[in-house]
Amino acid sequence: MPHVLPPLPYDYNALEPHIDEATMKLHHDLHHKSYVDGLNNAEAKLAEAREKGDHGLIKHWSRECAFHGSGHFNHVLFWEIMSPKGGGKPTGDLADAINRSFGDFDKFQAQFLAASNAVQASGWGVLAYRPQVKDLVILQSEHHQNLTQWGVIPILMVDVWEHAYYLRYQNRRAEYTKAFMNVVHWGKVGELLAAAAK
Ligand code: MN
Repeated sequence: MPHVLPPLPYDYNALEPHIDEATMKLHHDLHHKSYVDGLNNAEAKLAEAREKGDHGLIKHWSRECAFHGSGHFNHVLFWEIMSPKGGGKPTGDLADAINRSFGDFDKFQAQFLAASNAVQASGWGVLAYRPQVKDLVILQSEHHQNLTQWGVIPILMVDVWEHAYYLRYQNRRAEYTKAFMNVVHWGKVGELLAAAAK
């Protein structure tokens, strides 16, 4: 089944002034779309290779799959974990899990922003659940697919590729990630934690 670009769960301008309409339009309609197309193309090529029994280009198409697949699924999560009614602080089980794993919300936020701001070149800041040990971990991802820990389940991610912020924030990534915290949909993040912890 081909992958499809899901619609944004809100209007392009819904996250103004924190994330501008022009960026959201480009980011969703062009950048995210290209990951969906790239993933579909890579999977089609892999299917073709299986049919022919010719895996001569397996490294290339595996890389394409990892890059575009991670790009696609990361963006699906990214749109979902933002909301025009976002910001503030998490509550309930998510707040408890953050406190257990990082001390308190302020310490979590300081580490999450520091990690996101220090991602080398393009990538993501990631908060993930580790089912192996039932706690939360903050990771950096270079591009979409590098430096991961296998088996973790991301529940909050901030896109720090330049396309996510350059129009409004230019090279001021830290201003953008700070603004991002104003649109985090903690309710959704809490739902994702509950699903991951099940
Ligand atoms: Mn992006």
